Amino acid sequence: MDAIIGEFIERTSNDALKIVVCTCCAREVSASDASHYLISEIPNQHLLKPQAVHRDHDLFDGLLLEPIGVDSSTKKAMICNECHERLKQGKLPPFALANDMWIGRVPSQLSELTLAERLLISMYFPTAYVFKLFPKHAGSANWDPSQLYSGLKGNVSTYPLDPDLVADMVDGQLFPVAPKILCSTVAVTFITPSGKHARGLPSQLRVRRDKVYAALCWLKDNNPIYANITISNERLNLLPEDDIPMEIIQNVCQSDDVEAVVREHEGYVPVDVEDGESVRQPAEAADVDDSGRIPQGFFS
Ligand SMILES: [Zn+2]
Repeated sequence: MDAIIGEFIERTSNDALKIVVCTCCAREVSASDASHYLISEIPNQHLLKPQAVHRDHDLFDGLLLEPIGVDSSTKKAMICNECHERLKQGKLPPFALANDMWIGRVPSQLSELTLAERLLISMYFPTAYVFKLFPKHAGSANWDPSQLYSGLKGNVSTYPLDPDLVADMVDGQLFPVAPKILCSTVAVTFITPSGKHARGLPSQLRVRRDKVYAALCWLKDNNPIYANITISNERLNLLPEDDIPMEIIQNVCQSDDVEAVVREHEGYVPVDVEDGESVRQPAEAADVDDSGRIPQGFFS
């Protein structure tokens, strides 16, 4: 029995579960599936030279490598067994950055945007976002303000949208997109026992006008798809300086169908979802709004 427990502890130790980044393909792999190699001794390393150098490439001895996996003091690079095996065979590893898999770093102008801000600079709208907010513990009658969003779930859903309405929203090259896009792509429902009123909305729905402007300027300068857009001051002025847009607030619904939450918890989702953990649920039409109210323009 002691041997079994010892083996369990060994296999679940920090060392056994350590994750490293392969400098060739930039994937995270188990430390046991990768090794350090001197950059100068990487086999067939000419394969890792990019065909066209980009100004933001991280090159080491001319090789396109992920810097996280490189120890510059020892000139060693972490390479996963899969990539190393392919290189030894004289083949370019399929996921190697040098195999046109490099996308560069996401600039801060884009990475720090909230969900609502991302929608306002988007050209395409493949999904609708449904925020369903309820107390952390299933069946609870109380809202703990400090844990208001700990039951937040991520749904991936697609809905039939009115093509004319969408065409109208994305008409022309004026950016940001008119804020009414938020009415049609974001729905928020508080699920709380009747008589109780929930307050506050997730910060992911906040819009900061200057961040939207900075993101559009970056895209116009760096993304060919956005090269011909016109950044409209008139549109920007429709956005709050730093607040939740009225287009979202007006669409917030409240439902007292707490039973719906209980039913969902009866599935494979743990009853007590830890703070910050997101859980993916199968999309169901009933998820949209248990109170029966559907945001205007949401469906065709
Ligand atoms: Zn690799």
